[in-house]
Amino acid sequence: MAKEVLSVFQDGRAIVVVLPSYSYHQDDIVYGQVLVRVEKLASDLFVTHECGVVEKNKHASCPCVEAAINAYLTVTQETYEDVVLEEKKIILAPDMKQLS
Ligand SMILES: [Zn+2]
Repeated sequence: MAKEVLSVFQDGRAIVVVLPSYSYHQDDIVYGQVLVRVEKLASDLFVTHECGVVEKNKHASCPCVEAAINAYLTVTQETYEDVVLEEKKIILAPDMKQLS
């Protein structure tokens, strides 16, 4: 299921997509935001983010990735061959340009 996109930032040739995140703390659902960076290098899309799904299970298919790629393709009209996933926390920088 695709996630709704809260906003999109441009960071040079990369796009940073802000998505809602949900995680569990004890028995409570914690609502937050997760930032996903998408950048095309050669013919592949590199998708970098850190979230509760990946943290709990490295092999889980994470809904952030699809939503971020869709947002990236909408902005850039790019095509790509493969998706490479990287796990690293993304933070917004002041020089990123907000697109939506
Ligand atoms: Zn995720």
